[in-house]
Amino acid sequence: MKITDIRFGMLRVPLKTPFKTALRTVDTVEDIIVVVHTDSGHTGYGEAPATAVITGDTHGSIIEAIAKFIRPRLIGQEIANLNHITQLIQTALERNTSAKAAVEIAVYDLWAQLYNAPLYKMLGGGDPVITTDITISVDYIDKMVADSIDAVERGFESLKIKVGKDIGLDIERVKAIYSAVEGRALLRLDANQGWTAKQAVFAMQHLEDAGVVLELLEQPVKARDIDGLKYVTDRVHTPVMADESVFGPTEVIDLIKMRAADIINIKLMKTGGISNAIRIADIAALYGVECMIGCMIETSISVAAAVHVAVAKAGAITKVDLDGPSLCRFNPAEGGVIFNESEISITDAPGLGIREVRGLEMISG
Ligand code: MG
Repeated sequence: MKITDIRFGMLRVPLKTPFKTALRTVDTVEDIIVVVHTDSGHTGYGEAPATAVITGDTHGSIIEAIAKFIRPRLIGQEIANLNHITQLIQTALERNTSAKAAVEIAVYDLWAQLYNAPLYKMLGGGDPVITTDITISVDYIDKMVADSIDAVERGFESLKIKVGKDIGLDIERVKAIYSAVEGRALLRLDANQGWTAKQAVFAMQHLEDAGVVLELLEQPVKARDIDGLKYVTDRVHTPVMADESVFGPTEVIDLIKMRAADIINIKLMKTGGISNAIRIADIAALYGVECMIGCMIETSISVAAAVHVAVAKAGAITKVDLDGPSLCRFNPAEGGVIFNESEISITDAPGLGIREVRGLEMISG
């Protein structure tokens, strides 16, 4: 099975409700779909969103990085030589992690298809059913409480609460949601870089003293402020998770050695795909550090890849935040991983199991 071509499509899927964080508001998924063709007729699918405020990737940069730098290296490569191909992808150019992720996802899809097995089995196997949390967007308190109650009634047992807008209001938001769902759902707090280190410590100590129990606090401070992240980690009881502060395996090693965070949030769009996500899970396991696996605003194509990784690396990846597909108004993929509210399950189909992507607008590049 040799790679013969890599093509691009634009996929647009409206969200059920706008996704609002301290950094941005999004109401439609607009992702680049990467289709890798082979001489055996097998097709691999990958996906990348433009998350300029986090990874720096845009639609234009994703297409350019793949078309000009990655694709020329991959044409003619044997899918069986997976490690060689991932090396070619990772060294094609600096950064551009979302572009690399999209291509790696499609290549791993083909690699598992080559051996006629679901990807998670090729990665070591596991229990093919996992449970995700759901995001509660930052909004007026009443709206956030109503959204939280609605999510609990839909069966979600973990809620990812977005804060980081205004410290005083954020504390009130969390208290109100906690009292509304106490005992029925775990709360994960994501400040998306919206606080200073001192504000974060103030907010968490206030909440802890008020008896509000949180599963974790995610990325309280600016991505580059590793000292600030450590300052918070050192001073609060609630476990602190690094998201935007860590992208690849070497950054994870540094962060763990500094004890700057307690948990690592792995996202394929930050790691540059599956090969480095696996490395991070293995590094974290060596140090006894837990990981979450998360996603950007992505559909059931790239999130399917994250699900396969989560299942195969469940020993290290103990928390799942893969709600992208359940935020979408419809599932654009035919076949593949089944997203049913909080429950995500993998079928026996080879690779990622995707037979077709509906509504794809092919673009030249
Ligand atoms: Mg986050």
